[in-house]
Amino acid sequence: MRAMLLSKLAPIEKNPLRLASVEQPSTRKNGLLVEIEACGVCRSNLHLIEGDWKKYGAPSMLPIIPGHEIVGIVRKVGSSVRRIKVGNRVGIQPLYSSCLKCEYCRSGRENLCESAEITGETVHGGYAEYIAVSEPFATLVPDSFKPEYAAPLFCPGVTAYKAVQASEPRKEKSIGIFGVGGVGHLAIQLAKIKGSRVVAISRNKEHLDLGKIVGADSTVQLVDDQEVFIENMKKKEGLLDSAVVFAPSEHAIDAAVRSVKKGGTVVIGVFGNIPNFFFYEEKIIKGSVIGSRKDMRELVSIAQESGLKVVSKKYLLEEANDVLAKLKKSQIQGRAVLIP
Ligand SMILES: [Zn+2]
Ligand SMILES: [Zn+2]
Repeated sequence: MRAMLLSKLAPIEKNPLRLASVEQPSTRKNGLLVEIEACGVCRSNLHLIEGDWKKYGAPSMLPIIPGHEIVGIVRKVGSSVRRIKVGNRVGIQPLYSSCLKCEYCRSGRENLCESAEITGETVHGGYAEYIAVSEPFATLVPDSFKPEYAAPLFCPGVTAYKAVQASEPRKEKSIGIFGVGGVGHLAIQLAKIKGSRVVAISRNKEHLDLGKIVGADSTVQLVDDQEVFIENMKKKEGLLDSAVVFAPSEHAIDAAVRSVKKGGTVVIGVFGNIPNFFFYEEKIIKGSVIGSRKDMRELVSIAQESGLKVVSKKYLLEEANDVLAKLKKSQIQGRAVLIP
C-alpha cells in the first residue's frame, strides 16, 4: 500500500515524510482491516515529525506512519469480531488500544491507561491506504457523514468534547474557548449545544471570525498585555465561569486562569506552564487529554443529531509535507484532511 513514511525526525521544510510502498497491515483475531478514506492532519503530527516530542518518547519507533484521526471502510474482520461487519464504516482515534484491565480502563478512563498505544506515535497511523485496529477501539460512523467531515471528529472532535464536558457546560454559564483552530472551532459549538454562553478568544482576527461563524456569542482578542486583555474581557463579558485552553502557550493559559471568576474552572488541553495561581481564589485547574471510547461514541451521535459543523479541506495523501508546512505557518483554517 502507499503510505507517507517518517524515517528521520526533521523540520517539515525538509520534507521528512516520503511516499513509500509498504506492506499492508495484517489483522489479528479481534482485528479489522480498514481501507482509509480520510485522515486529518493534526498539529501534534507536526510536533512529532519535527522531534518536539522526542523528550516524551514519541514516536516510539522509526520509521513510522503518522496520523491519528482516521475514517474508513472495514474490508476484513478477524475470526472473533462480532459487533462490526465487513463494509461498515469506522473511525479510529489517537487512543489506538489500551489494556482494558487496569483501574483506568475499568473506570472508563482508558485514555489514561499506562499501556495505551497511540495511533501514529507508538503504532502506525493513518497517512496511508490501510490500517489495522482491534474491534473494541473502532467506532462505528454513520454512512451519511462525508470522510472529510468524519475524520476530524476522531481527534479534534473528541478532544474538544471531553474538554468541554470537563468545564461542566450548562445553561446560564459562560465558557471561554482559548484558541479557535481545529479543536477550538468544535469546542465552541459543543459548548453552545450544551446551552452555555460562549466567548471565543484568539490572537488571530481570522480565527475570531471563524469563532463567530460557528456560533460564538462574542469574541475577545488575546493581546500581549494581560491587563488590557482582562479589562476588555470585563467590559465585554465580565469574568467567565469556565475556560478551556487549546492555544498552545503559557500566555494563553495565564490569560485563561485570570479570566475566570473565583472558584471557576480552567480546563487545559495543551502543554504549557501555569505561571500564576493563587490558592485564595479557589480556582480549579483540570487537564484533559483526547477521550475515552465512550466520549468518542457520544460525540459521533451528537454530531449526527446536532449538525455539528466541521470546517475542513481535502488534500492528497502525497501533499502531507506541504500541508504540515502550511499548518506550521497557521495558513490552514479549520482542519486539513488527507485523502489517500
Ligand atoms: Zn490530533
Ligand atoms: Zn489499562
